Amino acid sequence: GAEIRLEEVVKRYPGQKTAAVESLSLTIPAGEIVMFVGPSGCGKTTSLKMINRLIEPTSGTILIDGEDVRKSSADELRRKIGYVIQGGSLFPHMTVAKNIAIVPKMLGWDASRVKGRVDDLLDLVGLDPSRYRDRYPRELSGGQQQRVGVARGLAADPPVILMDEPFGAVDPITRQRLQDELLSIQRELRKTIVCVTHDIDEAIKLGDRIVILREGGHIAQYDTPEVVLAS
Ligand code: ADP
Ligand code: ADP
Repeated sequence: GAEIRLEEVVKRYPGQKTAAVESLSLTIPAGEIVMFVGPSGCGKTTSLKMINRLIEPTSGTILIDGEDVRKSSADELRRKIGYVIQGGSLFPHMTVAKNIAIVPKMLGWDASRVKGRVDDLLDLVGLDPSRYRDRYPRELSGGQQQRVGVARGLAADPPVILMDEPFGAVDPITRQRLQDELLSIQRELRKTIVCVTHDIDEAIKLGDRIVILREGGHIAQYDTPEVVLAS
C-alpha cells in the first residue's frame, strides 16, 4: 500500500452555492482500509474521485506517497490506483477476461502476461478461470459481477484501491460473503483501500479506520471502529 494525504482539499461544483467538499485534510496510512461514511450528498464520492482525478479539486493538494497526483501522468495513475464501483460496472459487450484486462492492456502488458494475470485474479476472487473467463457479464450473478469488478480494480496490482459502494448492489447474504472475501484478500495484499459506503455496519466490519463525514465533507470523526462503536 501507499500513504494518501489530502491537504485542504476543496471542491466547488459550478453553480453550487456551498462547496461539496469545503476543506478536507486527512492522512490515510499505507496498507489500511479507510471507510468514508455519511449521509447522501455529504461529499463521499466527490472526495474519492478527486484522489484518482476523475474530479479535479478546486483547490488543495492530494499526495500519494508524497507525490502530488497532479504531477502524475494518466499511466502513472493507472499503475497507482485501482477503482471498484457498485455492481462491478462491467462493460456488457466485453467478456469477463476483457473487462479485467482493460488497465493492463492500456499499460502495454503483453498478451501472455495479461492472460496469466486474468486467471490468477479470477482464482483470487473465487471464480474458476476456465469456467468464467469467456462469459459475458449478463451470464453472471450480481455477486459474481461484483467479484469481477474487484478483480478489475486489482488488475495492474496498484498500491491504492478506491471503492465506491462496492457491495451495494447485491443481496445481504452475498454482500456479507463478498465483505469477508475482501478482508481475506486484504490480509494477503495489504493495499491501501479507501471505500465509500452509507452503511455504518459495513464501515465497522471492513474499516481499520472510519471517517464519518457530514455535509460539506467535514470530518465529524476519524477513528478506529472500536472507538466509533463506543462513542
Ligand atoms: P455523496 O457521495 O456523499 O452522496 P457527492 O460527493 O456525490 O455526495 O455529492 C456532494 C454534493 O455535491 C451534493 O450536494 C451533490 O448534489 C453535489 N454534486 C455532486 N456531483 C455534482 C455535479 N457533477 N455537479 C453539481 N453538483 C454535484
Ligand atoms: P452469488 O453467490 O455470486 O450471488 P448466485 O448464488 O446468485 O451467486 O449464483 C449461483 C449460480 O447461478 C452461479 O453459478 C451463477 O453462474 C449462476 N447464475 C446466477 N445468475 C445467473 C444468470 N443471470 N445467468 C446465468 N447464470 C446465472
